[in-house]
Amino acid sequence: MAFDLESKTFWDESQVEGELKRVFDICNGCRRCYNLCPSFNDLFVRLDRESVDGEAGKLDSGDLRSVTDLCYQCKLCFNHCPYTPPHRWEVDFPRLMLRSKVVQVKRDGQSLQDRFLGRADLIGRLGVLFAPLANWAIRNRFNRWIMDKLFGIHRERILPQYASKTFRSWFDKRATHGATKAAKKVALFYTCSVNFNEPETGKACVKVLEKNGIEVVCPEQRCCGMPFLDGGDIEATRKSARANIDSLYALVKEGYDVVVPGPTCSYMLKKEYPVLLNDAETQNVAARTFDICEYLMALHVEGKLDTRFVSGAGRVAYQIPCHLRAQNIGYKSRDLMELIPNTKICLIEKCSAIDGTWGLKRQYYDLSLKVAEPLINEIRDSQAELTVSDCPLAALQIEQGLKRKTLHPVRVLARAYGLDQE
Ligand code: SF4
Ligand code: SF4
Repeated sequence: MAFDLESKTFWDESQVEGELKRVFDICNGCRRCYNLCPSFNDLFVRLDRESVDGEAGKLDSGDLRSVTDLCYQCKLCFNHCPYTPPHRWEVDFPRLMLRSKVVQVKRDGQSLQDRFLGRADLIGRLGVLFAPLANWAIRNRFNRWIMDKLFGIHRERILPQYASKTFRSWFDKRATHGATKAAKKVALFYTCSVNFNEPETGKACVKVLEKNGIEVVCPEQRCCGMPFLDGGDIEATRKSARANIDSLYALVKEGYDVVVPGPTCSYMLKKEYPVLLNDAETQNVAARTFDICEYLMALHVEGKLDTRFVSGAGRVAYQIPCHLRAQNIGYKSRDLMELIPNTKICLIEKCSAIDGTWGLKRQYYDLSLKVAEPLINEIRDSQAELTVSDCPLAALQIEQGLKRKTLHPVRVLARAYGLDQE
């Protein structure tokens, strides 16, 4: 298994190197992932060098490091690969890249760039506390030059703006916290991005769920830990996972479902936490976790979703994020928006290549824009009136490429109900 933290051999560098070469050898014979991402293209170029001549065993540590660093954990290759477990070759390319990264971080320590980008919770709290100043600083060219030099965040990368009030404070101040004695109950894992940058998305979740007679609570929570994982800090990720599972499991036991309006965070809860913590509570929470649109579509299938919409959304360019595709749940956000009358969805299955913190980094900025070109072109060609994605990071890339704001699908639904006037 590529990511068994309890295994004695997990942290052994020679074992990691051996496993990288074993999997790269399989990939060399297969090459199905050619052009899927920069990591595979880099691997194949290195394998095709005359000195290597297709023998993965001849790749040196610089080759292995380069392929690892170019993986931005979109997870697309996992479902694309015919040799994932239970196949006896047990290829899990994304987790092998992660293992290589965490072992390297354990040996060399984390870069300042990764340490900074990992603190999404702290940065978000400070950003909201000093919102006008933080938003000015994000746009100020001199400050961006300093951030570029100091933390390696590319000076041209559009960064999210901070709200003046968190989603959480809005939720806590409401007079009513949902329908009482509701048949269905939701614990909203609202995500850092919604809390600090996009509170309107959180408000839309609450309003849409409550309109459908569902009780909503917001449990104590912290960042899902993906930014820590991106930087190879496995212990910090596990700490975040433990705290979130303790909080969510208490509600799951009482019959709550966990609903998440962010594809990376729901991916973490469903797929990564069970591997990182490997216990029954985590499995239980994972089994009861849903993306917000997945949850609402399930409600529709039961015949319980209110479909009395008051306005249409028009022509919508909808990007399905990689971390939703990796969940194997189908096209729930598209299906949900298609229930709205006078709405035409142009589905776009192209990667935005930001994926956590990777596309924010100075050294990958140009490559990130290049990988995202097909997405940007397809949105432009769609001639849509509205651009929609479940992913706040894809929204940044779209804004970078097209100077256009992107909405979360739940906001499209809230607008169609007449509940979102923003
Ligand atoms: S990850 Fe799987 S599908 Fe992709 S190149 Fe390697 S073996 Fe082939
Ligand atoms: S997870 Fe994504 S970025 Fe990483 S190797 Fe697979 S396809 Fe490439």
